Parts: sequence; C-alpha cells; structure tokens
Amino acid sequence: MDIQKLDKNWILFSLFFFLIILFLITFNSNFLGKNILQNGTVSLTFDDGYKVHYDIAYPELKKNNITATFYILANHKDLFESKELMNLEQAKEIQDNGFEIGSHTLNHSDLLTIDSQELNKQLAESKQILENAGINVSSFSYPFGRLNNAIVKEVKKYYSSARTTIPGYNNLGNLDVYKLKSIVITGKMSTKEICNLIKENKNWLILTFHNINLENSSSNVEWDISLKNFKAILECIKTEKIKVKTIKEVVNEKRN
Ligand SMILES: [Zn+2]
Repeated sequence: MDIQKLDKNWILFSLFFFLIILFLITFNSNFLGKNILQNGTVSLTFDDGYKVHYDIAYPELKKNNITATFYILANHKDLFESKELMNLEQAKEIQDNGFEIGSHTLNHSDLLTIDSQELNKQLAESKQILENAGINVSSFSYPFGRLNNAIVKEVKKYYSSARTTIPGYNNLGNLDVYKLKSIVITGKMSTKEICNLIKENKNWLILTFHNINLENSSSNVEWDISLKNFKAILECIKTEKIKVKTIKEVVNEKRN
C-alpha cells in the first residue's frame, strides 16, 4: 500500500473526526445542555393543609398553570399551628383541578414517639379518610420530617413515595422514593436564593412550603413565606421555563 496515500487519508480522517467532536461540543452546550442538563424538574409541595393553601396558593398556581402536591392532615379538627385548615371538599376540588393531594397523617403525629399500632392507624386511616372523600392518595410526607427504618417499612405498605425534609437535590438515577429530599422554604430565604436553587437544579428539586403570609413584607417567622415572595418564585419558574411536576408524576415516570 502507498504510504503517502495512507498518511493523507489518515490526516483527512483525523480532521473529520476533530470537526465532529467540535460540532458535538458546541451543539451540546448550546442546545442539549440548556434543555436537558440545565433545566431539571421541580416539584412544589405544601405541608399541613392550611386553608391559605386553598384560598391563595391553589388559585395562584392554577392561574400560572403550575401544578403542585398538597400533603394534608386527614383528621385534624382544630387549628394547626394556630391556623385554619382546608376541609376535605376543598382538597378534592384542588385534586380535581389537576393537582395532587397526599397524606401528612391524621393529625400531625410525631411518628417516632408512637407505638406500632398507632403508627399503622396514622398511615392507614389517613389514606382511607382521604379516599372516602374521593381523593386518590399515593404520596406521603413525614410530620416534622421525622422517620426511621421501621416507619419507612410501614409507609411502604400504603404509599408509593414519601417526602422528608432532608435537604438536597434528588438524583433520579439513584432515587430512594421513601426518603425524598426537599428544600424547606423559610421566611429568611430571599427569592433570589430560591430562584438560584431552581436554576442550578440539574435533576429533581422538591421545594417544601408551609404558611403563606398575606402581608407583603418579608417574614422572619421561620415557616412563613410572604405572598409577594411566593409570587416571585412562580415568576422565576415561568421565566426560566422550568418543568414542574407533582411528586406522583415524577415517581410514576421513574417506575415505568
Ligand atoms: Zn407538617
């Protein structure tokens, strides 16, 4: 074989290969990178079933076409944390409008401090009560974020996922659906800080909200977020074109 010809072919091949690599790097960072790598999925979750979730959060989300998961107390008769709670008809209305309702036990019992019989009741009866009200329930969130292995084992009997308050992003490639991590939103966090968390998410970010404070001032109450800041977070999600899914949607996609 002609050595010179072989060299020439080799140079042409190398050049072609180099251009392909260059094209892939450019294409990936400009297009694929932005859509697949930079924009992870976000889930918005609301704990405790406050009436303000029904009155304010749900219509605001609906208006912006953003879905969410509401974990409610199935049988809490009084105020919780001195705040009014939504009733089961309101929860059903939320579900019927494309949102998810999950269980947060019967009455916000600390699962670490109760016996196994009471644990079973908190998990099974809360689900039953919600189902009797026409609500489909497959997701759970641990009150006070407290759990241990025995609790997880029991939760698995009734629910297909459970959210914790362990901070961090979830990795869809290596997911423990009964220990879903979430970032708890507090009054001390700025909307810029929260928007950055959303923008930096490459995988699955779950945000946990509690009370929404109707005064438009920034709040120092730990579990409160002002309505103004809540709206700013939704604006960030829209501006950044972030995919928002319910917990059930992501868990089901992961299973299939
Ligand atoms: Zn709670």
